[in-house]
Amino acid sequence: KASVGGYARARDLAHAFDLLAAANGMGRVIAGGQSLVAALNLGLTAGDLLVDITGITDLRGVRVEGDHLLIGALTRHVDIGSDPLVAEHAPLLARAVPLIAHDAIRNRGTIGGSLAHADPAAEFPACILALGATLIVEGPAGRREVPAADFFVDVFETALDEGDILTGIAVPCIAADERHGIEEATRRAGDYAIVGLAGVRRAAGHRIVAFGAGPRPMLCGAAMAALDAGDLDAACAAIGGELDPPSDTQGSAAYRRHLAGVLLGRLAAQLGDPS
Ligand code: FAD
Repeated sequence: KASVGGYARARDLAHAFDLLAAANGMGRVIAGGQSLVAALNLGLTAGDLLVDITGITDLRGVRVEGDHLLIGALTRHVDIGSDPLVAEHAPLLARAVPLIAHDAIRNRGTIGGSLAHADPAAEFPACILALGATLIVEGPAGRREVPAADFFVDVFETALDEGDILTGIAVPCIAADERHGIEEATRRAGDYAIVGLAGVRRAAGHRIVAFGAGPRPMLCGAAMAALDAGDLDAACAAIGGELDPPSDTQGSAAYRRHLAGVLLGRLAAQLGDPS
């Protein structure tokens, strides 16, 4: 059964690392609390100490550095949706926000929490992979940069090691001829996607990422190659076959494979691909 013995508010990153180390593997970082508190309530996780990082103001906000947009891990969903720099340089993330849950959750939830939580049906992990972003991780062993392709390991599992904190995300700024899009199917607005697709069209080619269609967000290589060759029908026919979707109360694996082909047609229109 879930239980948490205590709560501590970290003053800065060094303090957070000390608190986590003192908890001997039983410390849990809490940011917006929108997934962690539910997991504790459901008995899916437990810990001795909640380490609240929301007071570390350095981890909040968005800025441009060179040709990258740097997003602090504590930047809330609502702020990503309204930030002019995100709208200009990474519009895919801004477009994803209205698809994530509801206002109350978007007002508390953070992009770092969403990425660290790594729900396979979540929008931000798929967008981050489609954009080819880099995740900045700091921990007892120092600072490292993890490409999005290496960060998402399995259902709710990432490349974060014990005691690590995700501090930010570096997103390549959109190029002049680049297009972004996101499509998903849900039963009700704000639900997690039954299946969804995030897409980027660059001069170098397409990056199409499926979510809700496997244990982690997945690049769809066959669909990308067909789109690069200008064959949308072939891309829509191929995409279902390269997914590994679950069958659950939301729909069967076969239904999700079919939906992915339908969504790719809509996504291609957003990306400006000829139909
Ligand atoms: P928390 O809940 O505080 O933490 C989540 C996990 O990440 C914990 O394991 C925590 O230890 C870890 N963590 C948090 N921050 C860091 C960090 N910086 N470094 C290392 N580890 C960290 N999400 C979607 O994407 N799409 C949806 O449609 C959607 N619908 C939702 C509907 C409901 C009813 C609810 C309650 C949530 C929904 N969410 C959805 C989840 C929401 O987006 C969360 O805000 C997000 O998943 C977690 O962010 P958080 O800041 O609240 O993280």
